[in-house]
Amino acid sequence: MTTTNIALITGANKGIGYATAQELAARGMTVLVGARDAGRGREAVAALRAGGADAHPVPLEVTDPASVAAAARHVEEAYGRLDVLVNNAGIARADGSALPSETTLATLREVFETNVFAVVTVTNAFLPLLRRAPAARIVNVSSEVGSITAMTDPESFLWPLTSVPYPSSKTALNMVTAMYAKELRDTPILVNAANPGYCATDLNGSSGYRTPEQGAEVGVHLATLPAGGPSGQLWGHLAAGDSYGVLPW
Ligand code: NAP
Repeated sequence: MTTTNIALITGANKGIGYATAQELAARGMTVLVGARDAGRGREAVAALRAGGADAHPVPLEVTDPASVAAAARHVEEAYGRLDVLVNNAGIARADGSALPSETTLATLREVFETNVFAVVTVTNAFLPLLRRAPAARIVNVSSEVGSITAMTDPESFLWPLTSVPYPSSKTALNMVTAMYAKELRDTPILVNAANPGYCATDLNGSSGYRTPEQGAEVGVHLATLPAGGPSGQLWGHLAAGDSYGVLPW
């Protein structure tokens, strides 16, 4: 068994997940690139390796329990443990003009399948391997739009947003994060949620004003927390500056 830290990032073939894999690899970790499409996963791994990363593809469709179980078996056989799990895979969908009154259950279910239910599936499948690591870290990639505090503040730049599926899925993910942190509070495992901020990726038609690399910073920070670090918190960038810290739920 290697002593290099092993990190699995879901949805790592592009966007913030790819940037997270790149940065964790730059910090000396072996990165397992979760991708639901084998070709896209291979391409991402080739690009990461070209940059010097120790990267390996892991076929992983997070909404498919059989795929998740196969990925966990593979990681167990190949590495015996997992040091870092970044639940990054996510989707954003809305109906009509994104008003609550226009929301369909089909869209709500689709978004929750990926952004919430799959995180529980993946985390539970990998938890035995995370428990075998000396000090595992779980990072759930959330969003500021999941913060009820921010979304209900008329002074917040988020106030005009009214969509239900994506924001409420991230609110649920925040609670998932807090409850895992509570269950694991007497273990060395730290569990936190990261808000990347508004980043230019395919998720939003590249309309974000931050780069995926900037968006990955907070998650990387939480994935590399020292022993005794925070657990059960939402972290993100503060105001317009480059510093980051705890955000309100
Ligand atoms: P992105 O560029 O669209 O990347 C999303 C990644 O998730 C892709 O690799 C995608 O795979 C993967 N994915 C989606 N559904 C999946 C599934 N069922 N199984 C496996 N992989 C799946 O988006 P991004 O902006 O980097 O988003 C990454 C995370 O950051 C998400 O959780 C998102 O909610 C969060 N976030 C983003 C922003 C932002 O402004 N961009 C802000 C806050 C939070 P494919 O390539 O196969 O589709």
